[in-house]
Amino acid sequence: MEYKRKNVWLNIDDEQKNELEEISKDYINFLNTAKTERLAAKEIIRRAEEKGFVDINEKIASKSLKPGDKVYALNKNKGVALFVIGSEDMENGMAIVGAHTDSPRLDLKPVPLSEDSNLAYFKTHYYGGVKKYQWTTIPLELHGVIYTKDGEKLEISIGDKDDEPVFTISELLIHLSRKLMDKSAREVIEGEQLKILVGSIPLKDESDNPVKKNILRILNEKYGIIEEDFITAEFEAIPAIKARNAGLDSSMIIGHGHDDRVCSYSALNAILSVENPKKTLVGLFVDKEEIGSTGATGMGSHFFENTVLELLNINDKANIISLKRTLANSKVLSADVTAAYDPNFKDVSELDNSAQFGCGVALTKYTGSGGKGGSNDANAEYLQEVRAAFDKEDVIYQTGELGAVDAGGGGTIAFILAEYNMDVVDCGTPVVSMHAPTELISKADLYSTCKAYKAFYENIWQGWLN
Ligand code: MN
Ligand code: MN
Repeated sequence: MEYKRKNVWLNIDDEQKNELEEISKDYINFLNTAKTERLAAKEIIRRAEEKGFVDINEKIASKSLKPGDKVYALNKNKGVALFVIGSEDMENGMAIVGAHTDSPRLDLKPVPLSEDSNLAYFKTHYYGGVKKYQWTTIPLELHGVIYTKDGEKLEISIGDKDDEPVFTISELLIHLSRKLMDKSAREVIEGEQLKILVGSIPLKDESDNPVKKNILRILNEKYGIIEEDFITAEFEAIPAIKARNAGLDSSMIIGHGHDDRVCSYSALNAILSVENPKKTLVGLFVDKEEIGSTGATGMGSHFFENTVLELLNINDKANIISLKRTLANSKVLSADVTAAYDPNFKDVSELDNSAQFGCGVALTKYTGSGGKGGSNDANAEYLQEVRAAFDKEDVIYQTGELGAVDAGGGGTIAFILAEYNMDVVDCGTPVVSMHAPTELISKADLYSTCKAYKAFYENIWQGWLN
């Protein structure tokens, strides 16, 4: 009669434990490869192609799309949509799991290189919600795209291989921090202080910016680039810290970007394991969630809608009523992480309604802040359908409110898909230390998330309520 969370570890057998460890190992590899939204798009497509997915442009060119076909669409090298075409008419709706691949980080400014007191720096502008003081004194690596003046595109990574140098941002020694320690956490490190140290050797016989000039010399020798090339470049600095097992019992995974690559991985894992569905299945991997889902590669863009219309058009169904029905009849898991209860910070959570480590994927009816503000707030009918889909496969899941009432809050891509009148609910892995340079998840919750998304794809369309 009483509701009690189930602990995944206590409710799986040895075979499932082996499966859990295999998934965890594969996820760690994914996290160490898909380090940025661009690298994630590449890795998602690489894995999809291995399972028989083909570029949508091939399908458009051959004007052929049939049940069982697997299709991917790449959006400007940063977002991906995967489709497994169902045997039923798409107008009856699709089963969509939507995750994001961008994570909080530091982006280089368009004129990044500067020099002060014989030290050269890359200036940054942070991306997404970060506690700025957490990004100092840790090793950083750089990933990006830069064009030479004559248009050659270079994809550059520095610091992710063991024989490459890493970067860092300096912090004040405690001995001289008497004044600093009295500042609020918001002001301890200010945005303009997030300057990445890139060098300290001056160029000989140079009086003006000799260290900066030496860095430019190195960049030019190595990559053939000049300072002006940075104006059109995109570089991201992320922690140079590999994802790995955590805890004496190795029950957890520490790594950068679990938000939201753990849900991205789980959605990918699920959609790659289902063949010949009745309804069309969709795996969405979008960019820009951390800054409000804006931009052409964010969920707010028309990319997804346009792609669905292209698919309908292959079978001469590209009319507005077919498109609207296809979208409005769809059911969605908005696959994003939620806050796991942290006993270190009890007062910001309410235990009964918080996701707890090891108790499975969290189903989050509503997010938002200050009275559910901006939240999708899923309805009871749809929640019951999701519950039935999970129960059918014995998925261990739990509820997870994003913090106590009035403690703060956050959002996901849920509200954007709901604008099409789709049924949408947030459902993702609980995370500790969210948005910190390294975040923590439970392997049990990763395992449960993969199971939940697969159960959703296979069972959400059983018509449980009819
Ligand atoms: Mn997220
Ligand atoms: Mn986030």
